[in-house]
Amino acid sequence: MKKGKKLYEGKAKIIYATSDKSLVIQHFKDDATAFNNLKKANIEGKGVLNNRISEHILINLGQVGIKNHLVKRINMREQLIKFVEIIPIEFIVRNIATGSLTKRLGIEDGTVLDEPLIEYCLKDDKLGDPLISKEHILAFKWAEKKELEKIDKQLHRINDFMVGMFRGVGIKLVDFKVEFGRFKENGKIEVILADEISPDTCRLWDNVTEKKLDKDRFRKDLGNLIDAYQDVARRLGILHEQSNIRPIKFSKPTAVKIKRNK
Ligand code: 5GP
Repeated sequence: MKKGKKLYEGKAKIIYATSDKSLVIQHFKDDATAFNNLKKANIEGKGVLNNRISEHILINLGQVGIKNHLVKRINMREQLIKFVEIIPIEFIVRNIATGSLTKRLGIEDGTVLDEPLIEYCLKDDKLGDPLISKEHILAFKWAEKKELEKIDKQLHRINDFMVGMFRGVGIKLVDFKVEFGRFKENGKIEVILADEISPDTCRLWDNVTEKKLDKDRFRKDLGNLIDAYQDVARRLGILHEQSNIRPIKFSKPTAVKIKRNK
């Protein structure tokens, strides 16, 4: 499949056209942003890890009947995906209260929720991705009632599957954000899961130590983001114990002092 022109560049990904109008290439960048683009960095190796982790999760979700945009991973940084019209909503599912939920409502950080909580945010950087209700989505026709009903059901299934998958490798799935898109095929439009699912879009805490293994390491200046993402990849069986996705860096040669015998 030939890579065509750049169609769209986002904060962490680039979309390229292909010779097939129904397919595009999704390229994972190393760029990290937070707080509505106020904080930015380039973290070497992040894109490669997110590409692999998202591929793994989307393949597994596909196998349990959650249709999604992934066709196949092409290389270390790129995936061939179905071209969809993204629904401009961030769908957030929470199992444990943290992040914006605790700030907004004063709920104690770490409170385990009795039931998964679904939230909707409008995808609009200029407005800071504001929280919206289902009624807003319907009133402004960002999605249809039938589409929302289908997405809500899928959100619960995605959450159930991912909670189990991560629990099996000693990780708590605290919360996550997903996006959906409309895929046109043979004159029919179907809503499918799109974008990515990775430590950039989920909160993942170690089951025992509650160590953060996700993008909060960048947001909160905790450091060692790549080590944490590699830990997630290793636990999911994507990386082998010894493998290290970062290129080896050679340190600058240091001057050696030679003592001369007088
Ligand atoms: P919060 O609303 O607490 O900031 O985020 C809830 C969950 O959604 C977290 O897992 C967070 O990573 C994810 N999330 C929310 N908005 C965004 C976004 O704009 N970009 C990314 N990558 N993740 C988001």
